[in-house]
Amino acid sequence: MDLSPSAAEAALRADVRGWLHEHLPGEYGQGLPPRFEDLADEVAFGREWQSKLASGRWVGVPWPEEYGGRGAGPVEHFIVTEELARARAPELVGRIGINLVGPTLLAHGTPEQKEQWLPRILPAEHLWCQLFSEPGAGSDLAAVATRAVRTTTAEGAEAWVLDGQKVWTSYAQFADWGLCLARTNPDVAKQHGITTLAVDMRAPGVEVRPLRQITDETEFNEVFFDAVVVPDTHRIGPVDEGWQVANSTLTHERGINPRQLVIHVQLVEELLRLALASGAFDDDRLRPRLAQAAVEVRLFQLHNWRTLSRLAKGQAPGPEGSALKLYWSEMSKRLHDTVMAVLGPAAPLWHGASENPGDGTWQRSWLYYQASSIWAGTNEIQRNILSERVLGMPREPKRAS
Ligand SMILES: Cc1cc2nc3c(=O)[nH]c(=O)nc-3n(C[C@H](O)[C@H](O)[C@H](O)COP(=O)(O)OP(=O)(O)OC[C@H]3O[C@@H](n4cnc5c(N)ncnc54)[C@H](O)[C@@H]3O)c2cc1C
Repeated sequence: MDLSPSAAEAALRADVRGWLHEHLPGEYGQGLPPRFEDLADEVAFGREWQSKLASGRWVGVPWPEEYGGRGAGPVEHFIVTEELARARAPELVGRIGINLVGPTLLAHGTPEQKEQWLPRILPAEHLWCQLFSEPGAGSDLAAVATRAVRTTTAEGAEAWVLDGQKVWTSYAQFADWGLCLARTNPDVAKQHGITTLAVDMRAPGVEVRPLRQITDETEFNEVFFDAVVVPDTHRIGPVDEGWQVANSTLTHERGINPRQLVIHVQLVEELLRLALASGAFDDDRLRPRLAQAAVEVRLFQLHNWRTLSRLAKGQAPGPEGSALKLYWSEMSKRLHDTVMAVLGPAAPLWHGASENPGDGTWQRSWLYYQASSIWAGTNEIQRNILSERVLGMPREPKRAS
């Protein structure tokens, strides 16, 4: 396999690097990424940054040009994401819209829906959230119980009345729109009675309650719907066929992960620097763990490249996406455990001067990545997919719905 870049790929990399050098806010690019005291400030800053990036057409690189993208392929997308992460640029605040909702609308939206929503996603004019998970429907997403019932408004327009609850909805408190799975037919097999709706998050009857996480942040939320009226023109795809729409959203959640790759390349570099400063390399118990962290991140890079070359040839990521998700989340947890071992007595500390290893940056990162084996499909579910679809083991017995 030839991994050397083409002249056009090298030029694109130089281009994005040059743009970032000119436009990246001063505090970025140094050590671990800076943190904001208040999530609302971070989101406001993130909207401005994403809008600036979009003006340079560095957001939504694979999106069609008419909606602000470059109509480029997976390799170009990988290069731009890699460079953004390498420069430690702020994370894209509208990533749910960019990576999940946009591709879903492109595949299933009507021309009017595309015109209404797509141009506002890349410049962060609209933030979207993903209203899929519920208290009784996470891994078993087809069990969604939020109900949407047909109605006709006083003006005579077709609409739906939405009642129910979602949970773990990232950034719902800042979102303008939510992509929601709702049960529209309770009398058929559960995959067949779901419809996808775009919900105005400011509509009467939508209540967002932030949930406090182990990191002391409130990125995700519970969302309650009490007789929320959703126009039928905001239905994405046919009635009762929302499961197909949801699956097209979910395929975009897995697969290659250039951002996590570069974050972990940087984390391992930081870890090795920390180990050098603390003398951890002289400790026989820590040395093999440091070597393992470095080797595993390199393996993650090779896994990514293998999947990328499949995508570049127009092949689907396939169940390899599950192997990649499983691998990086477990690698990340091991790497963070090694960091804690290297920090030693400073590991349980949180507050302090920024040059102090107990300032909380590593501790927050350790806590944050505990969730990596849950989001985008838990590791148990990835193992089920691998055992059934790759190893050809017997399928998991169906539970009664
Ligand atoms: C940081 C973060 C952000 C998130 N953001 C969003 C969001 O924006 N929007 C959204 O809709 N959701 C979001 N989620 C939710 C996420 O998709 C779900 O947490 C995930 O799908 C698991 O569902 P659950 O939490 O209901 O766990 P459950 O499905 O109840 O699972 C509980 C445990 O049982 C195991 N289990 C379940 N079924 C099986 C099985 N068949 N075989 C073996 N083991 C099984 C699971 O692996 C898990 O360990 C987020 C989650 C996290 C952690």
